[in-house]
Amino acid sequence: MNAIETSYNGYKFRSRLEARWARFFDVAGIKYQHEPEGYWVSNIPYLPDFLLLEHDVFLEIKPPLFHLRDSNDPEWVRHQVIESLWNAPSKPSHFPLYLIAGEPRTGHYSLIVDGEECILLRCRRCAGLCYQTADGSSWGEFGRHTKICTMNTERWPSDAFEEEFQQAMEHRFEHRNA
Ligand SMILES: [Zn+2]
Repeated sequence: MNAIETSYNGYKFRSRLEARWARFFDVAGIKYQHEPEGYWVSNIPYLPDFLLLEHDVFLEIKPPLFHLRDSNDPEWVRHQVIESLWNAPSKPSHFPLYLIAGEPRTGHYSLIVDGEECILLRCRRCAGLCYQTADGSSWGEFGRHTKICTMNTERWPSDAFEEEFQQAMEHRFEHRNA
């Protein structure tokens, strides 16, 4: 994967992929902080990629899943350990951490929720975030959505992020020549 350091929005991102997700969050009106704070997770130092400010969710951005699974990448193995420790029921002190693997394009990324491949959706009612499993069989609420939106008894009308993804993918980042 190309890990080209990319400047965008006053942040220095470790890869073009992270910067593309930052661009997506901006276009979608999702407020974030990049690498807000480092943590010790059972003696492992860990710096999450994004905190989504109005959703109370940490996100880690990684290359596509097939790439991660095939590569036996030590970073991938490390992430799995951190994620399981971070989201363990016995450790409810942080906001939850989710993995997004792949580019911000429909069909090219997975949001991993409890080990399941999902996609991101937006609640049309409150603009909060939801997710749906990739096969469409189940869905859930993301971060603060359970607290701010009462429309949770039925499957709510929700919206994918086609347009926002397209804008993020078309964004031309500045080239920085050192
Ligand atoms: Zn809602």
